[in-house]
Parts: sequence; C-alpha cells; structure tokens
Amino acid sequence: MKLLYEGKAKKIYETDNPNEVICEFKDSLTAFNGEKADKEEGKGALNCAITTIIFEALQKEGIPTHLIKQIDETKQLVKKVEIIPIEVVVRNIAAGSLSRRLGLKEGKKLPFTIVEFYYKNDDLNDPLINDDHAMILNLVEKREELDKLREYGLKINDFLVKFFDKIGLILVDFKVEFGKDKDGNIILADEITPDSCRLWDKKTGKKMDKDLFRFDLGDIKEAYTEILNRLKG
Ligand code: UDP
Repeated sequence: MKLLYEGKAKKIYETDNPNEVICEFKDSLTAFNGEKADKEEGKGALNCAITTIIFEALQKEGIPTHLIKQIDETKQLVKKVEIIPIEVVVRNIAAGSLSRRLGLKEGKKLPFTIVEFYYKNDDLNDPLINDDHAMILNLVEKREELDKLREYGLKINDFLVKFFDKIGLILVDFKVEFGKDKDGNIILADEITPDSCRLWDKKTGKKMDKDLFRFDLGDIKEAYTEILNRLKG
C-alpha cells in the first residue's frame, strides 16, 4: 500500500479506487501541538473501533460521513476528501482553552451550546478564527459553507450528547473536521474519539479522555477501553 500522508495520529494509504483511501489509526499520542508526545500500544485499535461506532450512528442520523467500513483492527476504508482546514469545536461545558482564554471555571455549563472555528495550521498553533478570517484565507469558497459547518456541528452535538448520556458520559466538548467529496459535498471526516472529545463520567465526574494524557491524570488505555465497552454494551 502506498502511503499518501502521515500525520500525528493517522496514516493514509492509497487504494485501487481513486475515490477511496485507507485510514490507519496509530498508537501515538500527542498534545499541545505535538510538544508532548508518547505512545500507547492498542490506542489506535481502541480509537478506530470507537470512531467507527460513532460515525455509523451519525450516518444513520442523516449526517454524511467519509466512513465506508472498518477493514481491520486499526484501519477504515473511507471516501477520499479534500479536508477543509478548519477545526470545528462545539462546546456544552467550559473547559480547556475556553476556560483559559475567558476565565470561565472548568465545568461551568454554558447557557447554550457554542461553535468555534480554528484554522488548522500547526505553524500558527491552530488559531481561533471568525468567518471573515476564514473567507480572507480562502478556507472555504462561500460563507454558506461556514453556516453548513456550524449546522452540522450542532446536529452532531445534539445526537452525541444523548448518545453518550445513555452510557453514563457527559459530552463536554469536541472537535470535528469536514472534507469535500468528489462531488463537492461537505461530509464529516477525520475521527470522533476520546482524543478529540472531552468526556466525563456522569456519576464520578472522572475525566475519560485525552486530558488524562495532557495533564498526566491517569491511564488513557483503561478509560478508552471503558468507553468502547460502554458503546458496545
Ligand atoms: N481538540 C482536538 N484537537 C485540537 C484541539 C482541540 O481534538 O487540535 C479538541 C479537544 O480534545 C477538546 C475540544 O477540541 O475536546 C476543545 O479543545 P480546546 O480548544 O479546549 O483545546 P485544548 O485545551 O484541548 O488544547
């Protein structure tokens, strides 16, 4: 298989079909724009299984995704897309950079769900941007596409809040990425995993996501395994 791209958490391989690629989830863990890095054996398989379950559920909800099927423990066959270089972050509860930037106490429930855009650019440290910034950087062709990203972000959130609540987890915030397929449709791409979400246990309030790694708070493998087991159960 010809490697097309290798990122911090994934490898993308070519297939015989020009419209499809294989996405492999790596065991590597990074935080703070790659400043903190480590490896956790089995994490790739856990994330691959978790994101597959979530994307299949979202697909059923009418949210178009790049997922075609999972092909082995760490790999998915996905539609090839042109990634829109915007990280769409949706927040229900204050945490992370929102708490730091605006001085909101971690855990404060926001009066309504908010959507933020970040410019996907490691050299610039993924800065927070507004619609005008996205337009002058040509990150999308039309402003309506930004509205679509917000609309999908909120729709995904509505579904996932209930989905995780059923398995005893609070969805604090998450990041999603979208791409354009060969026909120019905007579809959900990348992943939704505990690397890209904040998930807190409803009963204990315990963090069960990448913050465990970011701040050396505990065993991510144990937490991710627990999430997968609840999703399967
Ligand atoms: N997030 C992500 N990748 C990034 C930045 C953020 O997956 O490059 C996720 C993060 O895990 C959290 C949400 O987006 O669930 C909001 O992250 P935040 O802006 O609070 O940044 P952080 O403090 O996590 O760097």
